[in-house]
Amino acid sequence: MICNNIGVNEKDHLTFAGLDVCELAKKYGTPLYLMDEGKIRENCRTYKEAMGKYFKNALPAYASKAAAFKRMYEIISEEGLGIDVVSVGEIYTAMKAGFPLENAYFHSNNKTDFDVEFAIENGVGYFVVDNEEELFAIERINKGNSKKQKVLLRLTPGIDTHTYEAVNTGKVDSKFGSAIETGQAEEITRLALEMDDIELMGFHCHIGSQVFDSDTFFRGSEIMLAFAGMIKEKYGYELKELSLGGGYGVKYVESDPEIDIAANIRQVSESIKTACAKYKLAEPKIIMEPGRSIVADAGMTLYSVGTIKQIPGYKNYISIDGGMTDNPRYALYGSAYTLFVANKVSAPADFTADVVGRCCESDDIIQPAVTLPKPVRDDIIAVCTTGAYNYSMASNYNRVARPAIVMIHEGKAYQAVKRESLDDLIANDL
Ligand SMILES: *Cc1c(COP(=O)(O)O)cnc(C)c1O
Repeated sequence: MICNNIGVNEKDHLTFAGLDVCELAKKYGTPLYLMDEGKIRENCRTYKEAMGKYFKNALPAYASKAAAFKRMYEIISEEGLGIDVVSVGEIYTAMKAGFPLENAYFHSNNKTDFDVEFAIENGVGYFVVDNEEELFAIERINKGNSKKQKVLLRLTPGIDTHTYEAVNTGKVDSKFGSAIETGQAEEITRLALEMDDIELMGFHCHIGSQVFDSDTFFRGSEIMLAFAGMIKEKYGYELKELSLGGGYGVKYVESDPEIDIAANIRQVSESIKTACAKYKLAEPKIIMEPGRSIVADAGMTLYSVGTIKQIPGYKNYISIDGGMTDNPRYALYGSAYTLFVANKVSAPADFTADVVGRCCESDDIIQPAVTLPKPVRDDIIAVCTTGAYNYSMASNYNRVARPAIVMIHEGKAYQAVKRESLDDLIANDL
């Protein structure tokens, strides 16, 4: 199985986190997101323990855009991780979940004055500043407050990860951050150091997502520390914190490699120690911002099969009762997924079809050309590894209501997010 929380029971039904998914589909309806609370906690602990062991001082901060709802923030808070937030919506959700916002890092390449005011007023610990304009806005808005606003500066180290273009964010011409190569990184650092209402805590980089080669993180940290060394020499500023961003890849299909995150963190820590010695820096506090690798394999989506269409000599379609509204990742990135017919897992896989949604859009595909046991109407299709960037990217296109999220913990299921109703869909219509 693609992940150790997936299994098959004596009825030949798929199980997730120990429960029969067909039973869950019957009880809660489809489409349905499932999340495995134990797996989320296990993934948090992998980061927490490895970073605690290999770095002098460290904090994993969950990139909450991967899956943001109140229960998620509660779990992250209980596990003692920080969070990344990218909007006032995420800040508000975290706040309502009782998350300690002093451990929140506020990202985004375009924060409005309202965003800055909201974050300062509500005690968001850190701004990860993307550009000079934002730095000026924070300085202006924080003037007169008793506390300096802590910031990290987001820099682009100029690394191309060779992953999908849309998730490749470390290049010089990225829309995110200030580039080291162009001198803009030095300029924004100089400005931050001169400001009275800003406390420069360090630097941040995020190189990409769904990254498998550990080399990317070594090169990233080496370039960042070389920059910090230059800044120390020129301006006498000693780096306190270095954030290496997120990006570790997860296994969506059997052919994806498996990453040993703890071993990777150990290697990254070695390259950081070497670079710190080389550039005469004290070892800074290290932040990592995993999103996908915390929640992706803790998720699964269930659908009911509707129409089966066979176009002789061409192709077949299996239509399900969700689609790009609950999972736009194939439409956006061509993402691969592993699928099962959950009520007859081991039946012979004899039918090749595109599994498609029901939106008025040809790209509304969950996965093309999958070979499965031929399903019939009302069979359950399970799509694995949907915990990251599915619910958080869901939309109401075609006025489709968003599914519920059912959490499973220690053999028990409970609703963490309820299904949107038809009235929810018209709630803001005047
Ligand atoms: C999206 C993002 C992350 C998380 O990336 P994953 O690939 O989900 O681990 C971390 N940091 C920043 C700045 C991001 O934009």
